[in-house]
Amino acid sequence: MNSNIEELQPILNIGTIGHVSHGKSTLVKALCGTKTQRFKSELERNITIKLGYSNVKIYMCTQCDKPKCYQSFNSDVFGSPCCKYCNQPMVFKRQISIIDSPGHEAYIATMLSGTKCMDGAIMLVAANDECPQPQTKEHLVAIEMMKINNCIILQNKLDLVTKDNARNNFNQIKTFVNGTLAKDSVIIPICAQLGYNIDFLNMYIVENIPVPKRDIDAEPLMNIIRSFDINKPGTIIDNLKGGVIGGTLQKGKLSIGDTIEIRPGLIRLDNKDDKSNNNKYECTPIISKIVSLKSENNNLEYAIPGGLIGVGLNIDPVLTIGDKLVGQVLGLPGKMPPIVYDIQIEYFLMRRVIGSTNENKIESITENENLLLAISSSTIPSYVRKVVNSKVIKCALKIPVCVNNNSNICIFRRINKGWRIIGYGIINKIKTIDV
Ligand code: ZN
Repeated sequence: MNSNIEELQPILNIGTIGHVSHGKSTLVKALCGTKTQRFKSELERNITIKLGYSNVKIYMCTQCDKPKCYQSFNSDVFGSPCCKYCNQPMVFKRQISIIDSPGHEAYIATMLSGTKCMDGAIMLVAANDECPQPQTKEHLVAIEMMKINNCIILQNKLDLVTKDNARNNFNQIKTFVNGTLAKDSVIIPICAQLGYNIDFLNMYIVENIPVPKRDIDAEPLMNIIRSFDINKPGTIIDNLKGGVIGGTLQKGKLSIGDTIEIRPGLIRLDNKDDKSNNNKYECTPIISKIVSLKSENNNLEYAIPGGLIGVGLNIDPVLTIGDKLVGQVLGLPGKMPPIVYDIQIEYFLMRRVIGSTNENKIESITENENLLLAISSSTIPSYVRKVVNSKVIKCALKIPVCVNNNSNICIFRRINKGWRIIGYGIINKIKTIDV
């Protein structure tokens, strides 16, 4: 992996987690600098906004002291931007992708799909609020389940509180993360609104968050997080562009001109009667060619794991319109995980419901109940076909999914009006569909 590709494409994905309005978007603005992102085309704008992410480049000035030598910009900046203190040209250190997690409680399932592509997390806590707020708690549980080990805690909005309140809030954070994966995480005091201590955060990311070892020589596999049609209504046929998908590569490498397969592809349900336990599906994987690759505004010849990539295909945009392919998987024809419609799960239930104000006890899973399962980057409605024992259930999936045996999953139950995490598990038996 050379530094050249990293200037074009981020190789580290960091998700922001925390309660709604604790400053996630202000933080991204502070990291990207004052220059606001301009988009050359509808495609670039669409990918960035719909995926809820921003790419940030961190540079270092070799003349200035730490931490102020670390300065960040948006991904449009190339070459050697000048240091804002001494005006010397700086050196490129790292490009990261900041993935936003919806803070609102209704979106926990979406948030969990996002964790599939996070290498680390930034947890924002507003110093002027009690800690923890329900969604902060729920997000922390989610990243623990997905085994994300690198967490940075930002104590934000310090301009709005007194010194004593800041100290109390700091102690609340310490108590809250005690016994969790974030117990030894750094807590960086910042004020995102005024840009205070952002240089320290940049330094911490460069010096302490390791870039995961990626297997570039493996068969490529990409989780599709968005899909859309970039053509304006009324475009004449000769000018129509093919469908576009957005996602992140788990492993391997994709290049322009590659022939790819999307699974499960087109799904036809022969029997819509859920009660028969006997749904029959017909799946037709989509085969296509890659015509373009993009990381935000940057055109790529090839893409590697890290960051969210836009992949332009030569397929009818009707297939990709309106996120139709979200939750599907892209790879090389004949080298992909099987398409699965029924799974056995070895699972663990949590004791209490996290993320709601009254944390009720979680009841056992019962036969025939409907659950939502977060599998890969999709959330799949399913029902419990059989409770084998208190650790094992068999579930029928209402939508087939492309997944390997032994994959991690997360289990949601509808409680009051929302889907709440009740447990997690591992798939230990699958029934597959032949295509
Ligand atoms: Zn300098």
